[in-house]
Amino acid sequence: MEVDRSMVRRGILFVISGPSGVGKGTIKEALLKKFPDIKLSISATTRSRREGEIDGRDYFFLSKQEFNSKLQNNEFLEYASVYSNMYGTPKQYVIDNIITGNDVLLEIDIQGAQKVKGQMPEGVFIFIQPPSIEVLAERINVRGKDSPESIQTRMAASQEEMAMVVHYDYVIMNDKLDEALNKVEAIITAERCRVKNNIKR
Ligand code: ADP
Ligand code: 5GP
Repeated sequence: MEVDRSMVRRGILFVISGPSGVGKGTIKEALLKKFPDIKLSISATTRSRREGEIDGRDYFFLSKQEFNSKLQNNEFLEYASVYSNMYGTPKQYVIDNIITGNDVLLEIDIQGAQKVKGQMPEGVFIFIQPPSIEVLAERINVRGKDSPESIQTRMAASQEEMAMVVHYDYVIMNDKLDEALNKVEAIITAERCRVKNNIKR
């Protein structure tokens, strides 16, 4: 469909990021229900599919070869090796939606968020913080989807990751989920009201 670009506001890129197990996925799911018009960017990954996950909904599950071929074609906005698997954000989907006036949500690890910021600094970068490292460890354990080795790797990374908060626009502690959600929703609502985000161009 041809869109007259002079008639639409630009979409806003919302980036939800933070250490593994902090609650990004949980917050993302709630946001999509609250704001059904926000487009979720679905990442590609070489990690194996967990029980209950669906290809094209949770991730695009790719072989290493498929991932590398897309990488060579410059099809990722960013990509990273996270806990020894490859993850990447398909570029075209994000750009097409922003240009046509749709807001886009990215749920992404901290390395990835830094790279997206390098390319799209006008995005809104939201850091989700755990109440403590102990609570973070407990959440990863309770989720029960990761091997002991994977949990160890994630925990080792989380101390350093926490210091990255200074590069973000907003920080939200995910202690009580309802309170954290209210804050993210308030940020989205406020950003949507900003004059600069309502100029048609
Ligand atoms: P991430 O996507 O950041 O890795 P998840 O959304 O998978 O994290 O959350 C990790 C675990 O913590 C899940 O079992 C989830 O239900 C739980 N969780 C998320 N937010 C909270 C919260 N505020 N209080 C308690 N448990 C939470
Ligand atoms: P999981 O394997 O638990 O689904 O995700 C592992 C980590 O990879 C999480 O911190 C998640 O946010 C991150 N991740 C998911 N998609 C992407 C992506 O497209 N790019 C990057 N850099 N990280 C991602």
